[in-house]
Amino acid sequence: MSTFLAAPALTRPATPVAPVQLLVDLAAVAHNTRLLRSRSADHLMAVVKADGFGHGAEAVARTALASGATALGVTSLAEAFALREAGITAPLLSWLNPVEADFEEAARRDVQVAVPGPAHLAAVCASAERTGRPAQVHLHVDVGMARDGCPPELWRRLCLQAREAERRGQVRVVGVMGHLGCADRPREHCNRIWTGAFAAAARTALRSGLTPRIRHLAATAATLTNPSARFDGSRVGAGLVGIDPSGSTELRPAMTVTARVVDVREVRAGTRVGYGHAHTTTGRTRLALLPLGYADGVPRAAGGHASVLLRGRRRPLVGAVSMDQVVVDTGDDVVRPGELATVLGPGDDGEPTVADWAGWSGTIAHEIVTGLGRRVPRVPRVSAPVGRS
Ligand SMILES: *Cc1c(COP(=O)(O)O)cnc(C)c1O
Repeated sequence: MSTFLAAPALTRPATPVAPVQLLVDLAAVAHNTRLLRSRSADHLMAVVKADGFGHGAEAVARTALASGATALGVTSLAEAFALREAGITAPLLSWLNPVEADFEEAARRDVQVAVPGPAHLAAVCASAERTGRPAQVHLHVDVGMARDGCPPELWRRLCLQAREAERRGQVRVVGVMGHLGCADRPREHCNRIWTGAFAAAARTALRSGLTPRIRHLAATAATLTNPSARFDGSRVGAGLVGIDPSGSTELRPAMTVTARVVDVREVRAGTRVGYGHAHTTTGRTRLALLPLGYADGVPRAAGGHASVLLRGRRRPLVGAVSMDQVVVDTGDDVVRPGELATVLGPGDDGEPTVADWAGWSGTIAHEIVTGLGRRVPRVPRVSAPVGRS
């Protein structure tokens, strides 16, 4: 064997280390699912849209189903088909599709779809004629957001049209759904008005001769704070991964992001760091380089505010966040290449949380977790996160 081939093996580490990792604590997802299940009515839909809020749709879906969730929910049919491809057979709803979406394939794969108006119902009926089997649908009513769902003035017509379609054997209305726009502020009066509007819409469906088994309105915040919004079940997404929009602390954050120090340098006072010289060092110090940037979901807007946990202490990010890298000021500490920084996590060891990152960049926790880039590997774990024994 040539020495050229043999030599590198001597310096190769025993196990390869990923430069950046997103550890997903599935025990936390299981805990959160059980807690949300205990606060919801009979049905609990685990919403795993946007790749399970950035945590990995399949792992979150399987964990939630094993911990009390009775169904899955996603936005697009593409997301639904990916779950079916992964072998998941649980009841599955997709609620946001254009009229020309592939409703035939949805029926073939046993994916339920939400119907937000007469045009969508017509498209679903036409597809049912072609497949020869009734489509399972949830009628989606807009109770006050003016975003998605059927406008209130068309709701009665939609219900009657759906009843006709049931008689023809084209659809089966299994659910009625709505969504609250300010459930994260439980005291706001609109919650009461919109919950009442949903109850009235569900009664209209019944009076039209429909027999939906599941009336579902509440997402995470309402499930935790508003018992009158629970109806027959909830749809929860953020809560599964530990984000509570209403601000309670009962849920456990499921995400930890770590990065290995690539390089370290010592610099003198007055050194200008990174693009645009956004930062100038005030004294002699050490700078450590981490291999993740805005392409990986570190918000550029957090530059100048953020810090990470490295060698047991918070260290500020200095200079602009680049596409692929950030610079951390470690002061007098001689941090070595290869050391592990915790970029975000549950906060138990002093590392910044998702909420911290949201605050530093003027956004909400949801945008931080769903913004983590595709090149960061998701590593599901069932044990405690890094730093805890
Ligand atoms: C995202 C979404 C949910 C889940 O909301 P969370 O607050 O994340 O629990 C429920 N319903 C609809 C229609 C959604 O778009």
